[in-house]
Amino acid sequence: MDLKSFVTIVPDYPKKGISFKDITTIMDNGEAYKYATDKIVEFAKEVGTDIIVGPEARGFIIGCPVAYALEVGFAPVRKPGKLPRETISVEYDLEYGKDSLTIHNDAIKPGQRVLIVDDLLATGGTVGATVELVEKLGGVVAGCAFLIELSYLNGREKLEGYKVQSLMTY
Ligand code: AMP
Repeated sequence: MDLKSFVTIVPDYPKKGISFKDITTIMDNGEAYKYATDKIVEFAKEVGTDIIVGPEARGFIIGCPVAYALEVGFAPVRKPGKLPRETISVEYDLEYGKDSLTIHNDAIKPGQRVLIVDDLLATGGTVGATVELVEKLGGVVAGCAFLIELSYLNGREKLEGYKVQSLMTY
């Protein structure tokens, strides 16, 4: 399947100069959504996966069907203040300033093999922080899977030594 034909490119969103890759047009097509999910499930089986971790919000949309298909759990990574119980957090750099991400401190058991899933790898800041959260809890990052990789932003450099799958590259 030509998955790229289901991605809608929105120029100058959310600001001028950004070429936004809208994946809602993959999700709203049953066949495309299933195809993309199945590809990540294959990768998850290859690397060995005990649990899926996905950053909000599109990481949930991609990660949850993968977890369901594998019959494993899903643990959400969220912006500060969104998870109700005790969390750990990691700060990461944005283009301007800093942001942080959190995870419940009991979401991952030490030694569990974790597949991190998100819609898109850009600079790698989000996935880098997610890797740190997983490892702080004693999880083993089995791999990182994305629908889309923007190779010109070199996010993969932040994932050296980890197994990375991206279904489409721009
Ligand atoms: P980064 O932390 O720079 O790797 O950015 C990754 C996150 O930002 C992903 O979770 C995407 O949802 C979002 N993102 C960044 N750039 C784009 C883009 N050009 N189109 C769509 N989403 C993007």
